[in-house]
Amino acid sequence: MIGLALLLLQQQAAAQYPAAYWQQEVGYEIEARLDEAAGVLSGSERIRYTNRSPDSLTTFSLHLYLNAFRPGSRWSAADSAEGRRRFNDLRDPAFAFNHVRNVRIMGEPVQPVYPFAPDSTVVRFDLPRPLLPGESMSVEMDWDARPSTVPRRQGRQGRRFDFAQWYPKVVVYDRYGWAEHPLYPAGEFYGEFGSFLVDLDVAADQVVGATGVPVCGDPGWERANRAPSRAVEYQRDYYGERTPSAGVCDGAAPGRKKIRWYAENVHHFALSLNPEYRYEGGAFGNVAVHVLYQPGDEGTWGKGTAVERTVTALAWLDRLFGTFAWPQMTNVHRIEGGGTEFPMMVMNGSADQGLIVHEVGHNYTMGILANNEWREGWLDEGFTSFQTTWFWETLGRTGGYEGNEAGILELDLDGYSEPTSLVSDAYRDFVSYNISIYSRGELFFHQLRHTVGDATMQRILRTYYDRWKLKHVDETAFRAVAEEVSKRDLSTLFGQGLHAVELHDYAIGKVRVSGAAGQRGSGKTGWTTKVEVIRKAEGRLPVEVMVIAERDTGVVRVEGLAEREWVEVSTRSKPKHVVLDPRVRTHDWNMLNNRKKVGGFLTKLFGSAPGIDNYFHPYFSTRSRRDRITVGWQPVVWYNDAGGVTLGVRSRGDYLGRFEQNVAVASIATGLGSDLDVGDVDFFSRLRNPVKLRAPNMSQTLDVFNVEGRYGVAAEVAWTRREHLTFGPTWSRGLRVEWVATDDFRYLDRGLYDDVGTVELQSFGGVTTQSAKWQLAVRSSLGGGLAYNRDGLAASGRPELDPFYFRGQVEATARRPLGSKWNFGARAFVGAASGDHTAAKQRQIYFQGADPLQQLRNPFLRSRGSLLVGDDFRYHSPGGAGVRGIDSRVSTGAIVALSLELDQTLVARSSARLFNRISVAAFTDLAHAIGGASQSLTGDRIRFLGDAGLGLRADHRIGDTRFTTRFDLPLYVSRPELAQDREPGDDEVEFRWTFSFEPAF
Ligand SMILES: [Zn+2]
Repeated sequence: MIGLALLLLQQQAAAQYPAAYWQQEVGYEIEARLDEAAGVLSGSERIRYTNRSPDSLTTFSLHLYLNAFRPGSRWSAADSAEGRRRFNDLRDPAFAFNHVRNVRIMGEPVQPVYPFAPDSTVVRFDLPRPLLPGESMSVEMDWDARPSTVPRRQGRQGRRFDFAQWYPKVVVYDRYGWAEHPLYPAGEFYGEFGSFLVDLDVAADQVVGATGVPVCGDPGWERANRAPSRAVEYQRDYYGERTPSAGVCDGAAPGRKKIRWYAENVHHFALSLNPEYRYEGGAFGNVAVHVLYQPGDEGTWGKGTAVERTVTALAWLDRLFGTFAWPQMTNVHRIEGGGTEFPMMVMNGSADQGLIVHEVGHNYTMGILANNEWREGWLDEGFTSFQTTWFWETLGRTGGYEGNEAGILELDLDGYSEPTSLVSDAYRDFVSYNISIYSRGELFFHQLRHTVGDATMQRILRTYYDRWKLKHVDETAFRAVAEEVSKRDLSTLFGQGLHAVELHDYAIGKVRVSGAAGQRGSGKTGWTTKVEVIRKAEGRLPVEVMVIAERDTGVVRVEGLAEREWVEVSTRSKPKHVVLDPRVRTHDWNMLNNRKKVGGFLTKLFGSAPGIDNYFHPYFSTRSRRDRITVGWQPVVWYNDAGGVTLGVRSRGDYLGRFEQNVAVASIATGLGSDLDVGDVDFFSRLRNPVKLRAPNMSQTLDVFNVEGRYGVAAEVAWTRREHLTFGPTWSRGLRVEWVATDDFRYLDRGLYDDVGTVELQSFGGVTTQSAKWQLAVRSSLGGGLAYNRDGLAASGRPELDPFYFRGQVEATARRPLGSKWNFGARAFVGAASGDHTAAKQRQIYFQGADPLQQLRNPFLRSRGSLLVGDDFRYHSPGGAGVRGIDSRVSTGAIVALSLELDQTLVARSSARLFNRISVAAFTDLAHAIGGASQSLTGDRIRFLGDAGLGLRADHRIGDTRFTTRFDLPLYVSRPELAQDREPGDDEVEFRWTFSFEPAF
């Protein structure tokens, strides 16, 4: 009985919510004349306002939204803060405005107050006397409205005008009071339902699309009709007896025409004009479809394409929600790209089917089910993104859910996610707002659908529409319907899905199988698998538990609320595997604990690893999967003078593109092509980012190796942090400890290595940022270590060598484009190793590029006679002081250096794979040794080293790999005897070259 009483109470609560609902009543009468030369629409407006609220009103507010698109607005300020320049820089007559004059309320003149000044997108008036519940009043005013030349939802371009949110618009009064909210880039609109009577006076040749129906006058459709076999449906009498008089359209001035529009039950009136518009018409049931496209659109919009796609969208939405509430749907090709929704109208940048389904879908979620778009943007954007994905799914095009879910997971794992339900201007920035309300909002609807099932989801949508059409909706309204229809408590789903950003992780615990044999007596022939489902993270969603048996599959669902729960899955044949959440519906970040083999002790010992996807690695692209580890295998071959031709096998692991990025290389030196009888077997092993050590923005690496005369261990922990996803600084810092011992000098160049081992601890950090057109970066490292040999710290037979050394480097780079083709870049560098004393050779600071330990992981660079450092090859590996023309073995204790580059793009073909950018460059590198002890190949002390020359660069992309080929000619080198490419007797100016696969800095 108690249960029944509770159920009744719940149903009552759900049923009562709409009963307590009220909304204000508004009627607009607008008369407006467009002066095309000035770009200004001038009008007068009369508003009939009825107070249906239980409150007495003492003020009245209007939105003047066009005032956002001008300097000084909150919109412009938000743009500036995020590095966008749009309306802040516009001058008269380019910017937009909406000015009101002569405002009279209840017949009396009133004074405007701009509560968010200098922003003027909201204007407020004190009422001459309070407006009591149930009373009506009239508001009259004159105004001028001008769209901006830079389009954003609205805009003008020559004789083309897209009017959106263009007239003084009544601010919604709801249970929170007046919804006064300035217009920001993030967040859209909120309007009172009402009727609009709009009398337009425009040039006679204009073609006009608008909300509502043309009661009288010529919108220009017939003359522009490209499919004249079908008569234009004006629907002039759609509103029957309520249709306003059609007498006002006569008497236009020469060259002008008058059109009267009328619409009911809409919260906005949009308008678009272009004398070049082409018209095509169609219908879905009683809903007329008007398409207005531009010259040149014949192949993309014309020939019925856009009409048909609009009809397709209406048919889908009719099936999903119910009958469309209005007489017509106008789809126009607007000035701006993208798309924006208005009641009875969408203004789109293309005739893409997905875009049309999205924007026409907004006529339901936003237009008819009218949410407050800046307070709960997910309720229209997330909703319509969800229904668009579902639309494609019904046509067999999958991947929409998967791509969206994986993208959000990336942000969740690094702690960049913000909840779906924030008020729009509370988001960190415009990008985070978009991700949160569109993508994360869409994910919420998929999770609701997963929780209640497809059939119930359909009933929820139809009930929600039926109950709430032509009303203001919010989360409470939608949730009440969803709970009522599904008969489920959805508090956790709505709470976590909309108001939190928690991670989800389910894992399989114990698995127990009871076989057919034991059950024969009971007459049963099947198998029962008992599975323990463990919830390892805060996120809770229903989990599908799948048992794959020899000849059949069983699936059972658990609620996923408990930390541990058991579930029984029956199969007819013998169970082989258990898989949790096989369709990846729980947003589970770690799917590696979602698979288990069923079996005895031996299977558990040898077979319990999660399913690994082994594949042949094609060198330039690494495979990544949402639900399991991938391991790519590849043969490798390289050469050096000691080992000769070296053959090996390399594996590269991956999970989610960020975890388990382990590398293993086993290689054998064949001695082929070498005079030395080395014949080594080597290995290199890297463990990187195990899922067990997951932490936001953190990466861990452990290398253990024995390669080509060196062995050692390196461990690194690094953090990066972006303040914003698309602008602002990115910070990084980390710690690294590295031990490298030398044991076979047949591989090593004495110019690069002393015969000592080194153990070094280093901390590093850096920041990159964009400032105006400058791309700036600073990186530094600071550390120290000790050098030792077999005799301990008395190292190497070089008495001056200090076993304890200090090492620090700072590098700063700055780059910027100069016009469209030129780029300037500069790099400053300071590096010091062990102050006045000399560090071991491999830890000194190098004049040309990277130091020997930085090249240790590259088999083409690390050993004597390697392919890229052989006798005939001049390679530049960026780093150090960066004097690219110098021999890579020249080093000293401390250097300060500066490099400058200027390049000009000759060819840019962004879609090409090879040579997608080719440029020529001029460069100079200048370095000065600091302090005393310097040594060089020539035995003397080096003070200054510099070079200058010309270069040729090309950018390429193969698979997922982007790289540069850089061919530099250091024609001038200040010390020719130290040049990398040198011959006896060279002058300072000679023909020399170096090559690299990386930019110089
Ligand atoms: Zn949208």
